Amino acid sequence: MSVTTRGPLPGGEYDVTVIGAGVVGSAIARELARFPLRTALVEARDDVGDGTSKANTAILHTGFDAVPGSLESRLVREGSGLLAAYAAESGIPVEPLGALLVAWDEDQLGVLPGLAAKARRNGRHDTRIITAEEVRAREPELGPGVLGALEVPGESVICPWTTTLAYATQAVRSGVDLHLNCRVTSITSGPRPAPDDVHTPHTRHALHTRHALHTLHTVRGPLRTRHLVNAAGLHADRIDRLLGHADFTVTPRRGQLIVFDELARGLVRHILLPVPTALGKGVLVTPTVHGKVMLGPTAEDLDDRTATGSTAEGLALLREKGRRILPALLDEEVTAVYAGLRAATASEDYAIRAHPAQRYVTVGGIRSTGLTASMAIAAHVVELLAEGGLPLSGARDPRPVRMPNLGEAFPRPYRDAGMIAADPEYGRIVCHCERVTRGEIRDALAATIPPGSLDGLRRRTRARAGRCQGFHCGAAVRALFESEEPHR
Ligand SMILES: Cc1cc2nc3c(=O)[nH]c(=O)nc-3n(C[C@H](O)[C@H](O)[C@H](O)COP(=O)(O)OP(=O)(O)OC[C@H]3O[C@@H](n4cnc5c(N)ncnc54)[C@H](O)[C@@H]3O)c2cc1C
Repeated sequence: MSVTTRGPLPGGEYDVTVIGAGVVGSAIARELARFPLRTALVEARDDVGDGTSKANTAILHTGFDAVPGSLESRLVREGSGLLAAYAAESGIPVEPLGALLVAWDEDQLGVLPGLAAKARRNGRHDTRIITAEEVRAREPELGPGVLGALEVPGESVICPWTTTLAYATQAVRSGVDLHLNCRVTSITSGPRPAPDDVHTPHTRHALHTRHALHTLHTVRGPLRTRHLVNAAGLHADRIDRLLGHADFTVTPRRGQLIVFDELARGLVRHILLPVPTALGKGVLVTPTVHGKVMLGPTAEDLDDRTATGSTAEGLALLREKGRRILPALLDEEVTAVYAGLRAATASEDYAIRAHPAQRYVTVGGIRSTGLTASMAIAAHVVELLAEGGLPLSGARDPRPVRMPNLGEAFPRPYRDAGMIAADPEYGRIVCHCERVTRGEIRDALAATIPPGSLDGLRRRTRARAGRCQGFHCGAAVRALFESEEPHR
């Protein structure tokens, strides 16, 4: 097991390498860790889950509104159940709040029966159209003009940061090598030098393996691998072109979001979804597992794959939409704004493609549901790798992981007298907005995959994620982070 952040990469050949340690690549690495293979997970940034996977609406979808019959529909449906079970086992916070898809005019009301029928085609038979009176009784703070809603019981909120970290931690503890700060810049694929045994009885196997070697040229030097998985998110099309394929192009679709302070949490009980339009799923209001309320996202097609900034126009649009949905929310304090980029393509479905002759699988176009579908995508990708000859014998269950809880609805160390008695560091609060203790920060810095930055530490502990955004605790948190730096 190893995590490397600098220096040359290990020599020899990996059986399989995954490019991209977002939620999808990390889930694939975890799935591969079940087999006795030499596996690498390479990531351009200094942390796992630092791309789109850190900036989404964090809903564990049921897939009720997916395109029936699509790969996405199947993988979201399967992934939703798999992740819910994994979260319970691993301590990833999930709150099964259920969603209300609210109709604000007659046209939207007329769409609800069709959405319920679509949900049934997607295997969700538990949706129900409810009256305006019932909607009001269940969400008293909704704005005026509600005409009814589709209730979707299975929709949940989840911690996206802990999910990626749990997958990657379990993968690393099960023997996967994680190489951070390791951007892949080019790839050469082809036969290794002809082995002497080409004409032995094992000729077929030898020929097959001769054509299987990929050399990834990275900013930290070369890495050789027999099988390759491209889970590079917004850059998956670029990696695909390095392998000679050009069947999809990523158009970053920005989603801006506003996070309201925890005092707003009492205003809303469900995930409040809009009726989707041709332009997308629309703007929603949702509680977060971290005890806050989120409003967003926008849907803006851009050219720039780095444009994760918020804009005045985007935030104004969200405020306008939010005022209609939950007027009182707009009077609450804003804790943070952020934006994520969906890896949209021209297709409505995922672009997951196997190239068995090349021993290569592309995992592209994982736009709006990749968090939910991640475990099912991983299982699917490993099946595709097997078609390319990856030997999958000797499977074993990886040792379970238990992640620190970041969820507000579950016990946290500062409230746990037993934990504090056993270790007083859990009673010493550093970040008062989020009530994060020294003990939690210490544990994160010493974890299997320690954070590479203060932002990474925030995603592991919530330190600096509250209403002061580190104004009061920033120096103390930085001092703790830097005290551990020489060991990282
Ligand atoms: C606004 C918004 C809201 C969303 N809401 C939800 C939701 O509620 N529920 C849900 O299930 N999904 C949601 N999604 C979708 C979900 O976030 C994505 O599908 C998921 O995060 C994609 O994960 P990924 O691993 O494919 O991509 P990423 O997280 O982007 O990971 C790809 C990784 O590849 C790395 N990489 C790229 N190029 C290279 C290279 N050359 N060398 C090495 N590494 C490289 C990147 O640094 C990155 O870390 C939302 C997305 C957005 C933007």
